[in-house]
Amino acid sequence: MTSSLLEAFLDHAHGAPARPLLTFERESTSYGELAARVAALARGLRQRGLQPGERVALFLENSPSFIVAYLGVQYAGGVVVLVNTAYRQVELAHILADAEVHTCVTGAAGVAELAPLREQLPTLQWLVTVEAPTVTPPASLEVIDFDTLVTEGSQSTLALALPRPEDLAVLGYTSGTTGRSKGAMLLHRNLLANVKAVTEAWRWTAADRLLHTLPLFHTHGLMVGLHGTLYTGASLELHRRFVATDALATLRDDTSLTMFFGVPTMYGRLLEESRRTGVKPRELRLWVSGSAPLSPQLFHDIEHDFGARILERYGMTETIMNTTNPYDGERRPGTVGFPFPGQEARVVDVRTRRPLPQGETGEIEVRGPHVFAGYWRRPDATSESFDSEGWFHTGDLGELDADGYLRITGRARELIICGGFNVYPREVEEVLATHPGVAEVAVLGLPDADYGEQVVAVVVPPPGVHAPEAQALVEWCKDRLASFKKPRRVVFMDSLPRNALGKVQKHLLRARLR
Ligand code: ATP
Ligand code: MG
Repeated sequence: MTSSLLEAFLDHAHGAPARPLLTFERESTSYGELAARVAALARGLRQRGLQPGERVALFLENSPSFIVAYLGVQYAGGVVVLVNTAYRQVELAHILADAEVHTCVTGAAGVAELAPLREQLPTLQWLVTVEAPTVTPPASLEVIDFDTLVTEGSQSTLALALPRPEDLAVLGYTSGTTGRSKGAMLLHRNLLANVKAVTEAWRWTAADRLLHTLPLFHTHGLMVGLHGTLYTGASLELHRRFVATDALATLRDDTSLTMFFGVPTMYGRLLEESRRTGVKPRELRLWVSGSAPLSPQLFHDIEHDFGARILERYGMTETIMNTTNPYDGERRPGTVGFPFPGQEARVVDVRTRRPLPQGETGEIEVRGPHVFAGYWRRPDATSESFDSEGWFHTGDLGELDADGYLRITGRARELIICGGFNVYPREVEEVLATHPGVAEVAVLGLPDADYGEQVVAVVVPPPGVHAPEAQALVEWCKDRLASFKKPRRVVFMDSLPRNALGKVQKHLLRARLR
């Protein structure tokens, strides 16, 4: 029996080495070629002294080297630490120090970003570079060229062991939307259980070919797009990053593609680009959206223009994929469907933790073999997140509709309790967003002596437009929602603080407004 995703990939490479795995910037790589580089990198790392369990950060753009590094580190027994390439010194120092990283695999820009952080990262020993550095790295760091390491390893016969199911595979750092990002410990068995469930639910087979334009450092691109491909023996057209014009041209021209995965912003850009140029994608077997809510409007626009009903699913760093709309059967806009096979999901009352009936909003909990082993060196956060029966508190709010489809309605931490009434920020935000004087809006709760918390709206007016009167916005809400949901305070700002994935960081707003 296969006991890791890495093993499943190596089996495909062994059974059919010539099978195409990916094309990147017109260059194709087969399963056999990639597997040889993976084993060589693993041997190169071990030979130089990397120990099992040591953490290796990947601070890299999409490329075949990313995939070689990801699998090679696992084959060497190391733990992969994923780092968003948009991160700069503050986030890098936090993650690399927290994970006590031994090695960082990166490009020229990464070396420049890391060099001034040397003092803050005492455990860092090696920089493995996929490009020649443009700044001189600190003398105390050993700089090793990636290709040299692969060549060294290819001349070695060192025995490699496959990972065991209980071994730590990846430290996935959460996006830092609700606070400082935490390292989620994903075991090899978590990766394998989820990829089995996802590929089964979506009927993914070796005949599939995915247009992959999502970043490989994040759950969506890596643990859905890449893992599914490696597990089924399918193939990828890999792009360095998402550029709407290029993606659309590929979707029109490449007759071998069967799938496309994106975040809602990407679908919005594809649609804009298609309307601007008249270019339309060919028919695909499957279009998937996730990572953020896909508006029913965009769902319908894509259906109208591209003839495709997007399949929306829900996942997170800690659990990979949780729920999905059905592959066969109705895909319901505004919902994220049902649990993947072999996994459970439910909605509970935030105070009593009892399951709620359909139509009532509470916190989403999930359970199953895909759920991570806890937060890295954060026993407090870990114990707060699990109950004694193994249910993981996702921190997301949701409700089940009459047919059992899950609808996500916001984040539990952002729930405002005002005079004993629950106010869901997303509901108030949606109403304010329909006002012509509002381009962007965030609603949050601040402490209030009388009501416990008060509803505060932070509004960004459209460029070149005068901010509306605060009172006019309050009236706008009062006309459309129960009075206790209207903002007590409206604050105007030029922009909202967002993390590297574009999600609004309300904890920063709260600190600013206090
Ligand atoms: P942090 O945990 O550090 O605050 P984060 O939760 O944004 O950051 P991720 O693990 O990258 O970090 O994102 C997972 C979250 O993204 C989910 O918990 C959920 O809130 C949101 N999400 C994912 N898919 C969807 C979806 N289809 N619709 C709505 N929200 C989604
Ligand atoms: Mg989270």
